[in-house]
Amino acid sequence: MKIAFIGLGNMGGGMAANLVKAGHEVAAFDLSEEALVAAKSNGCATFTSASEACDGAEAVVSMLPNGAIVKSVYSADVIGKAPAGAVFLDCSTIDVATAREVISLAETGGYEMVDAPVSGGIAAANGGTLTFMVGGTASAFERAKPILEAMGKAVIHAGDAGNGQAAKICNNMLLAIHMAGTCEAFSMAEKLGLDAQTFYDISSVSSGQNWSMTSYCPVPGVGPQSPSDNDYQGGFATALMLKDLRLAMEAADSADAPVPMGARAAALYEDFNGAGNGGLDFSAIIKTL
Ligand code: NAD
Repeated sequence: MKIAFIGLGNMGGGMAANLVKAGHEVAAFDLSEEALVAAKSNGCATFTSASEACDGAEAVVSMLPNGAIVKSVYSADVIGKAPAGAVFLDCSTIDVATAREVISLAETGGYEMVDAPVSGGIAAANGGTLTFMVGGTASAFERAKPILEAMGKAVIHAGDAGNGQAAKICNNMLLAIHMAGTCEAFSMAEKLGLDAQTFYDISSVSSGQNWSMTSYCPVPGVGPQSPSDNDYQGGFATALMLKDLRLAMEAADSADAPVPMGARAAALYEDFNGAGNGGLDFSAIIKTL
């Protein structure tokens, strides 16, 4: 299948390469010359505009920084430029409202489109092991699914347009809350004279057990290998967690959903990021306690 791919950064570069490996003909565009050179070396054909990449494409995949860019790229260079009947897949993490708006613009233009944000970082993008949470009609989902399967290990239909983004930000808000809570519990245990390993041994088989503790422990040397064992390098950067928390707060406001714990976690990550820790893994927030 001929697939246009727009946005070949840290994530999109590996994802486009996996489409090539799956036998697709990938027409790539990015504003960055460096990203285009890398895409070419991975077997993509490269173009000097998104609209040229979309010429003759049966599907368009995008992996872009934010909602404003997604809307402008689709409005100016994809809708009306890609052949009638092409299916669009936006894999960027963006706000729910813009995702719904862009899908509606695409549908008005006669195209089917899904929002398909991912769980998993750069290693999963390179390794083809991302999880996709997909919003859109059943028909758009069925068309998008085989393309997404070439880039991931799980593809889940979350419901109507925008629901992929809704699933992503609700999940990451919950992750921020239980990471912050896990950090607090370990820190308090230590201050009460309880050693971290002992607390882990008890809590990991008790009702406080959660993913931040047992798969991603913020205390070095406790639990399976995680970024805390590597001085909080690699993993899921605080700046990216904060991006998702800001989107979550925006969505909560617009849906009038009370999120007192999410708001507190967002405030903690705003402060931690503002103190120059944006590049550290998000579990490093334990350093503030
Ligand atoms: P990135 O900044 O590395 O890549 C974005 C790419 O988009 C860049 O190469 C940039 O040049 C390109 N771009 C920007 N504007 C463009 C335009 N108008 N036309 C064409 N190309 C344009 O970012 P990333 O880490 O690859 O993240 C991409 C998306 O994936 C974001 O929405 C992010 O939130 C999401 N995400 C990232 C991670 C991660 O670990 N990096 C994990 C999950 C989700």
